[in-house]
Amino acid sequence: MKKIGILGSTGSIGTQTLEIVRNYREEIQVTALAAGSNAAALEEQIREFKPLVAALWDEKACRDLRERVRDLDVKILTGMEGLLEIAAMDEVEALVTAVVGMIGVRPTLTAIEHGKDILLANKETLVTAGHLLMPLARKKGVAILPVDSEHSAIFQSLNGEKKSQIRKILLTASGGPFRGKKREQLTGMQAEDALKHPNWNMGKKITIDSATLVNKGLEVMEAKWLFDVDLDQIQVVVQPQSIIHSMVEYVDGSIIAQLGLPDMKLPIQYALFYPDRRPMMAPSLDFYELAQITFERPDTETFRGLALAFDAMRAGGSMPTVYNAANEKAVSLFLNHQITFLQIPDIIEMCMDKHKVIQSPGVEEILETESWTYGQIKV
Ligand code: NDP
Ligand code: MG
Repeated sequence: MKKIGILGSTGSIGTQTLEIVRNYREEIQVTALAAGSNAAALEEQIREFKPLVAALWDEKACRDLRERVRDLDVKILTGMEGLLEIAAMDEVEALVTAVVGMIGVRPTLTAIEHGKDILLANKETLVTAGHLLMPLARKKGVAILPVDSEHSAIFQSLNGEKKSQIRKILLTASGGPFRGKKREQLTGMQAEDALKHPNWNMGKKITIDSATLVNKGLEVMEAKWLFDVDLDQIQVVVQPQSIIHSMVEYVDGSIIAQLGLPDMKLPIQYALFYPDRRPMMAPSLDFYELAQITFERPDTETFRGLALAFDAMRAGGSMPTVYNAANEKAVSLFLNHQITFLQIPDIIEMCMDKHKVIQSPGVEEILETESWTYGQIKV
């Protein structure tokens, strides 16, 4: 029986993880759950999966949750302490990190420190603290198993191969809901337009990131840390049908890819059972139906978020944190209709221009950089 904890259990990745657990109850036990403020959803999950511990970040919502589950034998926690306690629990062998944003940095590092394998969806943590996380994981001998579909595909395409023989990583992108549009067509775009993703049904933040191509920028950085390749070995290829989830080209020119229908349950399940594969209760790819797979170059002039990510990674140190934090703040302003779509990359660029890079920042410096960045954005 594998014992798992899920940070962000009420979100898109969290609920899909629990759907898989439902099919494999005799093999996976959920011992801890955590969410932000949704007490009703967390209560339902607690009643169904009976974890030992559950946490809600928001204190008021947490008081509500305590009332709701008074009849149950479950420990209820709140705030960062709640997340850190779950990360360190003996009864958690593997932690699914499915919270959104940099809030995941400290819990993820704590879990690694305590020897837990990480099923990593929360890419913002790797983007901002990859230089701390990856060496710590190696030192502690824990596995960082990618949940992000592209990184799962790369991970699968690397099976049995030598990393030293990678020529390049071909990171695929759907192009998002605004693919093919030019700047003048994007000026009036609202959050509601950006939230209509053609292929994936995801949380709001990552859906906006897909529309700006910032998500692909974050994924380039994620790939760099996970697979230890140089930035110029990563090439983004737009593949609008989201069938090829990414590819690896080797020194002999051979390209190995992982394909499948766009369904996050596939990479989540692969990470849960790695190195095994299990039957998947979902339709599989029919090539006759699909008919074609097409490719394009990303339009980095219109979607500047991707180009800025390469700049941030080249600058190194604390700059990826500035890129990420500026984006987190800009996305929440955009979702609240306080800025326009095209202001998102402008805000990222403005913060990056003002920032003086700190080399190899520690956790405190990363969090200070996050606050500094928020302070630059005045709306
Ligand atoms: P969602 O917005 O759907 O879910 C976020 C989850 O995090 C919710 O359970 C939310 O709880 C919880 N949460 C928010 N703030 C806190 C907090 N302070 N403390 C504890 N829990 C908190 O996001 P997604 O599932 O879409 O994304 C999660 C991560 O996975 C992101 O990093 C994203 O980039 C990555 N990812 C997602 C993919 C997808 O298909 N969705 C694909 C690849 C990567 P509540 O419900 O109470 O607000
Ligand atoms: Mg992805």
